[in-house]
Amino acid sequence: MALTKRRDTALAKQSFDYAPAPEAVDHVKIADRYGLFIGGKFVEPKSGKHFPTINPATEAVLSHVAEALAADVDRAVEAASRAQQSWGRLSPSRRARYILRISRILQERARELAVVETMDGGKPIKESRDVDIPLAAAHFFYYGGWADKLEWAFPNRSPRPIGVCGQVIPWNFPLLMLAWKIAPALAAGNTVVLKPAETTPLTALLFAEICQQAELPPGVVNIITGAGKTGSLLVQHPDVRKVAFTGSTEVGKLIQRSTAGSGKRLTLELGGKAANVVFDDAPLDQAVEGIVNGIYFNQGHVCCAGSRLLVQESVAGALLEKLRRRVDTLRLGDPLDKNTDIGAINSKAQLEKIEGLVESGREEGAEIYQPPCELPAKGFWFPPTIFTGVSQSHRIAREEIFGPVLSVLTFRTPAEAVEKANNTPYGLSAGVWTEKGSRILWMTQQLRAGVVWANTYNRFDPTSPFGGYKESGFGREGGLHGLIPYLELN
Ligand code: NAP
Ligand code: MG
Repeated sequence: MALTKRRDTALAKQSFDYAPAPEAVDHVKIADRYGLFIGGKFVEPKSGKHFPTINPATEAVLSHVAEALAADVDRAVEAASRAQQSWGRLSPSRRARYILRISRILQERARELAVVETMDGGKPIKESRDVDIPLAAAHFFYYGGWADKLEWAFPNRSPRPIGVCGQVIPWNFPLLMLAWKIAPALAAGNTVVLKPAETTPLTALLFAEICQQAELPPGVVNIITGAGKTGSLLVQHPDVRKVAFTGSTEVGKLIQRSTAGSGKRLTLELGGKAANVVFDDAPLDQAVEGIVNGIYFNQGHVCCAGSRLLVQESVAGALLEKLRRRVDTLRLGDPLDKNTDIGAINSKAQLEKIEGLVESGREEGAEIYQPPCELPAKGFWFPPTIFTGVSQSHRIAREEIFGPVLSVLTFRTPAEAVEKANNTPYGLSAGVWTEKGSRILWMTQQLRAGVVWANTYNRFDPTSPFGGYKESGFGREGGLHGLIPYLELN
């Protein structure tokens, strides 16, 4: 099953290279410094501290953002507590109007938000433009629709808000994760204090401006920037009644421990190591697109990435040949270029983590394939990578790499596929590729994963709940289920 390099496709590719097509950045205004967004205003941090956020594709400093420490977290939670009284009592249809207004402004400012998302985080512009920002707007639109229909959503259960929600999000889908958290919380009548990730705070700060533009009552949304310490102060604050966290399993466990016994409501959306299972009757060309989308979308910085390809032995040779050819055509480079498929790795620390795990794959005896591709001199980059000859015990088959690295394993029977797919402490998502509907249904019953995609991958919709099993966390975001963690129900 070894993959051999074929120079002829590399040569063919050269003659079809695209001319540069960079997205314009002159319409975007990023301030040199940002304060904290508390009580409807940008305020200087009491900590007196700021830290830089960079563009990981160029290492250029984009802005300096405030670091919220204890006194600032207190101030933000107080503002949210004060706003809770009136926001929770506002007529639901008026709450809906604010949320729908936010959705509309997100659409109006979509181009600007997409460019800033790409500059601050390194993801290709075609992804932030076509996926992150439209989906973020769609989440507000969807939950705006529920705000005045909670009595119908949960009949005879007297839905009521919980209070102040402390929300902590990661750097892989900054604005989208913010939307997943803030939209249902507001629709349910809660107020929020949200902390974006240290490396990607800018779209959350633009979102703060959007709250002002929508004339959202002061204190309903508060955005505090900072690193892990800020997140920890927020989730432990005694007046926070509900904690929503998306991030690593390691930090999720810490938060679960620190909130135990406090009476706080908690949802955790954590890591994953999804199996993408290809049976011998699958449409292979379609499967190749799904595999590529599953692992190389957003440089593999995706909690539900299809990072373990399980392929039936009889088609493994043919599938891998097609896959390697497809990977040869991926364009890595300037994330602002509209033709770029693979952008920059989000941070130096994440690049080092990926490099370390890839090194372990080599040392443990797996075979590596990387297409010939030039990495830019500045910034953080990692080429699309395929490991074959991977066994279940290898670290690259067990640990979340969170980078553009696919581990390929094979199986002979459906039972073996299920056993290998479920042999992980995670359980966030999975993919199944087969022509047989009955096999899809059987697999979805067997797989211990919150989301199972069939003959597609990485499909998202605000109406569909998303969340994990086992060490991938608990609670659901999206859909009607996504409202439950934000409501008191009889
Ligand atoms: P992380 O280190 O857990 O960070 C996530 C967020 O928590 C960041 O805002 C981080 O701040 C903050 N944080 C760090 N330590 C904290 C603490 N002790 N208390 C409270 N907050 C703390 O995760 P990451 O490496 O940024 O993100 C990647 C992980 O997120 C992956 O494992 C991925 O699978 C998971 N993820 C899951 C989903 C899902 O829906 N299931 C979606 C996206 C990502 P700083 O970054 O500022 O330090
Ligand atoms: Mg940044």
